[in-house]
Amino acid sequence: MRNRALFLFLALCLALTGCARRDAADASAPRTRTVFAMDTVMNLTVYGENDAAALDAAEQELYRLDAHLARGTEGSAVYALNHDGTVIDREAAELLHASGSIAQATGGAFDPTVAALLDLWGFGSGAGEHRVPTQEEIDAALANVGAKHVHIDGEQAILDLPTQLDLGGVAKGYAGGCVEQLLRGSGITSAVLDLGGDVALLGSKPAGGAWRVAIKDPSTEGAYLGVLETEGDRFIMTSGVYERYFEENGVRYHHILDPKTGYPADSDLVSATVICADGVWADALATACCVLGAEGSLELWKSAADWVPFDVILVTADGRVLYTCDGFTMQAEGYTYERAA
Ligand code: ADP
Ligand code: MG
Repeated sequence: MRNRALFLFLALCLALTGCARRDAADASAPRTRTVFAMDTVMNLTVYGENDAAALDAAEQELYRLDAHLARGTEGSAVYALNHDGTVIDREAAELLHASGSIAQATGGAFDPTVAALLDLWGFGSGAGEHRVPTQEEIDAALANVGAKHVHIDGEQAILDLPTQLDLGGVAKGYAGGCVEQLLRGSGITSAVLDLGGDVALLGSKPAGGAWRVAIKDPSTEGAYLGVLETEGDRFIMTSGVYERYFEENGVRYHHILDPKTGYPADSDLVSATVICADGVWADALATACCVLGAEGSLELWKSAADWVPFDVILVTADGRVLYTCDGFTMQAEGYTYERAA
């Protein structure tokens, strides 16, 4: 509810200021749109001609994907899979195929079949109250977790019920990729999609030079760890254990689960940012890194040249920032920064 109220307020501000700015300025100024989808406020910025029509299409695409991938929405592809065990849907099949590859590459740290576990903890869609489940409940749910329970045959996806799927760990990355494709199709060569803190950069900056993306400080709302200078056509996706959590008896339980234990990931990381040319991989790998921890994430990064290359900016609970890429300028107090090699 708070999100929605904030969204309406932001949308109103943008509508008021955005129009005025646009009318007064030249037509080459960027055009922005605020969208509430996937439970978050998104800001889309598009440069160039035909931008208004492109933004309309982008907004509709985000609503469509939100409905299509949400497991709580009756009629969605994921809803059909979770209830009927099968669906014929090109997008779901493609996304699940990629998810399976990522599950394999991460040794199961990323695994969209954790849905029943998420429900137990109260992190699922339409799930009940947050609570700590019993070990019996966790064991029972764990028995049905695993990428081996998902099968793809052309455009058909099959799920071994009672295994349940949740695509919350990849939905934004996938949506970012779809919107970029759509914008390119409308002739847009330059855009920034802020998908609620996750960023997709399309093409190059209209004025030239590198894009600059601020990386969130996980410990302070509104503060930044540093700035990443990067070329375009990149996804910069962050997962953090500080984003959604509840506390019971002084212990904090967050929304990224370790598919091996059924408990919230107990790694040394509080946040992981992944920079990758592929949105689905960027999103899923950020979630996986939170499970794998600093050492496991850096091992994965080193081996990635064989499959989908990516970079990381990892923040540990004891205040270290480990990063693998050029172009990252640090600026937060209280952290030690280490370039990983
Ligand atoms: P957000 O940006 O919304 O915090 P993340 O990309 O960090 O999302 O992914 C977290 C979401 O992914 C959770 O809300 C849940 O739906 C799902 N999830 C949690 N743990 C895992 C996991 N180990 N593998 C795949 N998906 C997960
Ligand atoms: Mg993710």
